[in-house]
Amino acid sequence: MAALRACVRVSDSPAELRAHARDLWPRGTLKLATAHDPGAAPLLVAFPESEQQVAACLRYASERRMPVVPWGAGSGVCGAAAGRGDALAIDIKGLRTIGPVEDRGAYGAVDVGAGVLGQHLEDALEVGGWATRHSPSSIWCSTVGGWAVGRSAGQFSSRYGKFEDMTLATRVITPSGAFGTGEWFDGSGPGSSWGDLHEWVLGSEGALGVVTRVRARVERVAPVRWLRGYRFDAVEPAWAAMRALLQADLRPCAVRLYDAVDTKLAGKGTVGASTSRRGAAWLAALRERVEATPALRKLTLALPLSLPRLVNGILQGVSGGCVLIVGFEGEAGEVAATSETGHAIVLAAGAVDLGAAPGEHWYAHRHEVSYKLAPVYSHGGFADTMEVAALWSRLPALYAAVRSALGRHGVVMAHFSHVYREGCSIYFTFAGRGSLDVYDAAWADALVAAASVGGTVAHHHGVGQLKQAAAARELAGIAPMFHAIRATLDPDGILNPGRLFPAIDPGPEPSRPALDIDAVSRIATLPAQEPAAERDARLAALGWRLRHPVLGPLSSSLTRVAPDDTRVVGASAILEGRRVVLLPVPRSSAGPDARRVLPAAAYETLTVPIAPLGAG
Ligand SMILES: Cc1cc2nc3c(=O)[nH]c(=O)nc-3n(C[C@H](O)[C@H](O)[C@H](O)COP(=O)(O)OP(=O)(O)OC[C@H]3O[C@@H](n4cnc5c(N)ncnc54)[C@H](O)[C@@H]3O)c2cc1C
Repeated sequence: MAALRACVRVSDSPAELRAHARDLWPRGTLKLATAHDPGAAPLLVAFPESEQQVAACLRYASERRMPVVPWGAGSGVCGAAAGRGDALAIDIKGLRTIGPVEDRGAYGAVDVGAGVLGQHLEDALEVGGWATRHSPSSIWCSTVGGWAVGRSAGQFSSRYGKFEDMTLATRVITPSGAFGTGEWFDGSGPGSSWGDLHEWVLGSEGALGVVTRVRARVERVAPVRWLRGYRFDAVEPAWAAMRALLQADLRPCAVRLYDAVDTKLAGKGTVGASTSRRGAAWLAALRERVEATPALRKLTLALPLSLPRLVNGILQGVSGGCVLIVGFEGEAGEVAATSETGHAIVLAAGAVDLGAAPGEHWYAHRHEVSYKLAPVYSHGGFADTMEVAALWSRLPALYAAVRSALGRHGVVMAHFSHVYREGCSIYFTFAGRGSLDVYDAAWADALVAAASVGGTVAHHHGVGQLKQAAAARELAGIAPMFHAIRATLDPDGILNPGRLFPAIDPGPEPSRPALDIDAVSRIATLPAQEPAAERDARLAALGWRLRHPVLGPLSSSLTRVAPDDTRVVGASAILEGRRVVLLPVPRSSAGPDARRVLPAAAYETLTVPIAPLGAG
């Protein structure tokens, strides 16, 4: 340790080691609560403040074949940064410089140390009239580096995209040397024979290198914001309204739908039909009485969590409708026009206007709700969240399948808060009896259910230990390429070993997806190498055009378009003689975005956004 101590602050104090043993994976919290098992603490924690010090840590670990766990703020909820007894944890929070904003006209760019906490970045930007508009609920306890390698999503993603869409460049230190990606890719450094590794680094969860710096796209603080709440009788008409808002290119900054149970339990359904008012009043009175009596509080939590099917049945039966929050922001003229059109779209879908109050209330409290689950553990239960996503055409099946799978093991509710032209994510919150068996069974069933209906197993929480096998199945075809890149960057395999992409049997070769137009999700699956004229003529004959015109074959244009837009939704490719089929989804965080990392010549088909002919 003396060799390392000579160049960087290192600690083996029990308090520091314990603080880096457990991230916020609920399974770890459950083990602590039920078995008093605090998790494996690392051997050492290093606190580098420069790239040179990060490199020194990696050198030290490489020489000793010692596993390394990069540590942002430990807010991950899938066990990605959880400790391992034999490891060196590298706590990145000492890398906290924030550069000046470069004004690029339509947006700004800022270089940020990977260890900067989200709220600190936001506070620094605000002084100059800028904002990231990346607003995860964990903004107070997560880092910019953690956002980038985990492909995090914030509450305004429908206008500004996920953090991967805002990341213009990264600087990465590996055991084999340093390199830049995106705007900092200069063709040099380890791994340069693979080209720009930008898309591989986003979603790599510390397995390809330590990100020390990020260049992020930032926005001017919007002068005007418009927020509104609506009530729908059920989720289906609300989905239609959300889809129409996005496909009309109105670029809302917030679109959040709470299903009937979430609306009821979170107290959002206090306005509406008389049955819902009665139900909400009854629930509020019950909640008040229970809160005032500790013994009752424990019992009322433990008992329903032991009878999830019954409770789910009752909650779903007492329907009081669903609340939808919609927001627009920007210049006054734009907001006036988009909110007027958006309001009309939502009302035409059958909504009751609840006025501005529900939206304003959500905005004021938008970071608070995630921190309220802890008491469930002290009352003998567990609570967790699962975020999945699918095309609009598959959303109903995804909602039904995962809700039913989780509902066999816990009380379940959901909201829909990351919305795209092509599809939507679902955020399930579920709580069950405090047993590891119940917890593991709930996750196992829910992950199978999501995959079985064409949903991604992760939208923004990443993979960690929790979704290793499920993510490997989703991305089976690219795992060999990932491991080959990793072997170049980290020949001794010390970086977060074994966490992303365990070896799994890839199963039978998947078939090439059918040539297809999905009009609901506004996507088409087309031959990747087809000449532009033929492709465009075939689409036009069916009344469609590419949303993003491409002059050559589709495979010639795979890069990102804009933070809230996308060019590639799905793909099939031949990689080392084997067909790889990449799930068409609006966004995923099951590892790196496999849809844009393969060599152009490998693609057989690409699934891309389309628009009706004649639409602007
Ligand atoms: C209350 C709560 C609310 C949340 N809400 C959201 C939300 O709204 N949206 C969302 O996307 N997520 C949310 N999360 C999940 C979590 O905040 C994100 O996954 C976040 O991106 C993790 O960042 P972190 O800095 O804490 O990373 P950590 O948890 O420390 O690490 C996560 C992974 O990234 C690796 N890593 C971290 N930093 C680096 C680096 N500099 N270089 C290389 N590898 C690194 C680690 O090794 C690990 O594999 C929430 C979590 C909590 C507890």
